[in-house]
Amino acid sequence: MKTQKNSYDAVVVGGGLAGLTAAIYLAKAEKSVILLEKAAQLGGYAQTTEKNGALFNFGPHAMYEGGAALQILAEMDCLPPGGYAKKTNSGLIGIKQGEIVHIPTDLTDDENQEWVNLMGGLQNIDVEAINGISIRQWTEEKIKHSRVKEFFYGMCRQWAYCDDSTVLSAGYVIRQGQLAGNGVRYVEKGWQTVVQILAEKAVQLGVEIQTNCKVEHVYHQDGVVHGVNFADGTNISTSNVVIALGPNEASRLVPGSDEMSLGSWKEQSRPLYAACLDVALKQLPRSDQVFAIGLDQPFYFGVHSLSVSLSNNGSHVLHVLKYNDDKVKTDAKMDKKELMELLELLQPGWEQEVVATRFLPKILVANDTHTAAHNGAGSAPHPSVPEIKGLYVAGDWVGQEGRLADCSMASAKLATEQILAQ
Ligand SMILES: Cc1cc2nc3c(=O)[nH]c(=O)nc-3n(C[C@H](O)[C@H](O)[C@H](O)COP(=O)(O)OP(=O)(O)OC[C@H]3O[C@@H](n4cnc5c(N)ncnc54)[C@H](O)[C@@H]3O)c2cc1C
Repeated sequence: MKTQKNSYDAVVVGGGLAGLTAAIYLAKAEKSVILLEKAAQLGGYAQTTEKNGALFNFGPHAMYEGGAALQILAEMDCLPPGGYAKKTNSGLIGIKQGEIVHIPTDLTDDENQEWVNLMGGLQNIDVEAINGISIRQWTEEKIKHSRVKEFFYGMCRQWAYCDDSTVLSAGYVIRQGQLAGNGVRYVEKGWQTVVQILAEKAVQLGVEIQTNCKVEHVYHQDGVVHGVNFADGTNISTSNVVIALGPNEASRLVPGSDEMSLGSWKEQSRPLYAACLDVALKQLPRSDQVFAIGLDQPFYFGVHSLSVSLSNNGSHVLHVLKYNDDKVKTDAKMDKKELMELLELLQPGWEQEVVATRFLPKILVANDTHTAAHNGAGSAPHPSVPEIKGLYVAGDWVGQEGRLADCSMASAKLATEQILAQ
């Protein structure tokens, strides 16, 4: 591996949102930093792919107003152009037994009243007090009507990307609902825009970025980090490594990790997957049906191109998704068929309008579920690996703050604060 120097103040492994965030904060503090990414392109799961002019994120991607990601992007002066998810006049759409159910028109007055009270009161719920109980327990205790419960479970799935209400922390998921209530922001031309802005900022601040550069091991001795090694036998010296990867890859990089906290964090993490159909259409057959949630099935449907451009040719981009738990055996063919049927229900005749499609049968959405057993936090409680001085982890499975990209970026920032505080 050929790098500008042999030694850096910090090495960041992984060029996704977490790695880029860590690199920027460290470089801002005038540390010499190298960021190493194994793929040819930066971005990890935040990449956007062009297909027939359509710009597909990996499935539906949105940032929550008031969440850590937007706050940190603003702090780094890296806010991307974007727009808010549009509300329609048709109310909330649920899908049950292959049919559309509307709030408020298909619910009784009592059910509607309970729904309005529930959603209106969401912001006032003390989430800290219910981090340790499951969202199933909370819902069954607090909500009376079964149809209101179904809609609420559908919203919880969407907020947490998880279909198992028995394990998901009530405090964590309701906190996500509170943030979603502030507004949901899509990014102009897809999340690659964020990646690009972050990469430019990092380079401006002096970060050396190497793509096509897979780290083999973190080298440590006597409880202290010394550097990273590559397959060709070369290495880089440093006293600080931020591993901005999932728990399995993080453990693989660190010899002896099974005997450390890293090993138990890996064992305790509970990944979330989804089957996802990304679709671009010339026009929307039903412009009044742009968002829906499954009531008896773990489905999500959303058109993301109403407030931002997600194509180079004016087409509409939408995502249909099925939340798949890692504990459940999935059937890709069946999942695709169900997602296409759902799309036909909501956008009849869509196949005549297709510009591009992409099916992702089982994509990792998150490395951890933020369970009640962990009080809603990630499986790693904090970024520093206690057994090795100078070793930190960052990602959606690390720390107390937020979900998905919020958690990734918040833990990356925290890792740099811990390095700088040494
Ligand atoms: C279907 C779907 C929907 C989603 N929706 C949302 C959403 O609405 N809102 C939200 O906030 N988030 C969402 N996410 C999650 C979001 O994309 C991720 O949380 C975020 O991009 C993770 O960033 P990261 O940097 O932590 O990890 P990653 O993106 O996984 O980045 C890790 C990087 O490390 C690299 N790497 C791995 N091993 C090595 C090695 N040995 N050496 C060097 N490099 C290595 C990888 O190539 C990768 O680029 C969604 C994800 C999916 C899949």
